[in-house]
Amino acid sequence: MTKKKKSRIRPGKMVEFVLQSLLKKPATVNYPFTKMPMPDKFRGKLRYDAAKCIGCMLCVKDCPSGAIKIKKVGEKRFEADIDLGKCVYCAQCVDSCPKKALMATPEFELAQIDRNKLKVIFDAPPEAPGGTEQKAGGSQ
Ligand code: SF4
Ligand code: SF4
Repeated sequence: MTKKKKSRIRPGKMVEFVLQSLLKKPATVNYPFTKMPMPDKFRGKLRYDAAKCIGCMLCVKDCPSGAIKIKKVGEKRFEADIDLGKCVYCAQCVDSCPKKALMATPEFELAQIDRNKLKVIFDAPPEAPGGTEQKAGGSQ
């Protein structure tokens, strides 16, 4: 039986590694004080533009987790209820929407102690086309 030869790093090499590491920029950022820019196609918190929605319900049908509801609140007026606690951030609803009324934003800091604060209602008051956001269960 042959003995396996142990691979050892010479102390001199180790010092070289340490010195190299000291001179390199850190691979991490000082989060939460410094934030990395998210990639272009990052799928974070959803945004809904009520002015573009036609109420076709494709987003509701295609959502794998039942996280989105669209309610008709008037003549050609729709409201979106999105449960960010159920959402798996797949952006299928964004892809399915024929009017580009749903968008995935770079926002990812969504943690809440109270699950109700993850239920977000987007509505479209007549005087403010484009949609405003109301948060159920208090402010986030
Ligand atoms: S991102 Fe995915 S899970 Fe979230 S609401 Fe859209 S389809 Fe549903
Ligand atoms: S798929 Fe788009 S247009 Fe259709 S109901 Fe959903 S958000 Fe509105």
